[in-house]
Amino acid sequence: MEEIKVFCPATIANLSCGFDVLGLALENVGDEMIVRKSSTSGIKITKITGQDLPLEAHKNVAGVAGLALLKQSSYIGGFEIEIHKKIKPGSGIGSSAASSTGAVWAMNELLGKPFSKLELVQFAMQGEKLASNVAHADNVAPAIYGGFTLVRSYTPLDIIPIPTPKELFATVIHPQIEIKTSDSRKILKTTISLENGIKQWGNLGGLVAGLFTEDYQLIGRSLEDHIIEPMRSILIPEFDNVKSSSIKNGALGCGISGSGPSIFALSRKKENAQAVAKSMAAIYDKVGVAYDIHISKIATTGVKEIK
Ligand code: ADP
Repeated sequence: MEEIKVFCPATIANLSCGFDVLGLALENVGDEMIVRKSSTSGIKITKITGQDLPLEAHKNVAGVAGLALLKQSSYIGGFEIEIHKKIKPGSGIGSSAASSTGAVWAMNELLGKPFSKLELVQFAMQGEKLASNVAHADNVAPAIYGGFTLVRSYTPLDIIPIPTPKELFATVIHPQIEIKTSDSRKILKTTISLENGIKQWGNLGGLVAGLFTEDYQLIGRSLEDHIIEPMRSILIPEFDNVKSSSIKNGALGCGISGSGPSIFALSRKKENAQAVAKSMAAIYDKVGVAYDIHISKIATTGVKEIK
């Protein structure tokens, strides 16, 4: 195989109680990339559509992640990459992770799959480091594995795939303001109280248990964030209203997607996710904030080949 076209899913990281450790992949929101082998060594980004992003490989997360893979590979040629962006950078649904993941997954396929999923996550994390100064894995892990993933440990990296309850749908609203992950990290305090820690790990355990047992009520009760949300929600217009209205309209829970400004809600059944979308949109319509909105099933496979 000389060339491959891939779908790179958008992802929701943190999921309220799982800052830097939990994430999920969306089924019908994502970028497309075409990656082809080249006789010239290194990575050349030949085309980017949809967004104005750097073509230089070392300034683009796809290039940086791809170079991390090439460094560990015995392949002497290189790759050309086309990126067709649908996910806006700085939206909080893993725009950078989609490109990092798409590049390394596609290259691995073209090389005959020499690397494991865990190794691909490690290469893609180098792209995340370029985007936000932190090599976090909570977006790239679900983008590679699909479904929900838990980063149990960073040293050593240990990714636990978590089953996806069949009736779970996500609603994501993206108010059209940009928050850079690097900026929204700066406002975080580096210490937490024991009291909040206890609440947070109780909820994290509850959410994971709820996902394994398909207990939708437990999932809903556990989607609470006592640590990050109080600090970050002030950056997002109408956050408290969007959250309370989503829950009133049937969401199991609602919180900040990644580092924001997108807000996500999880619902049981598509009809509820649609009602939640309508209620979120009504709030931004009323105050005149432009937005994109997505309703999606959770993707059980992550990045994948498309024709
Ligand atoms: P998101 O959470 O949506 O990924 P981030 O703020 O983490 O947003 O990452 C976006 C940053 O990464 C921007 O500064 C953007 O210019 C940079 N970047 C570099 N290459 C890419 C790419 N291929 N796709 C998206 N963002 C990229």
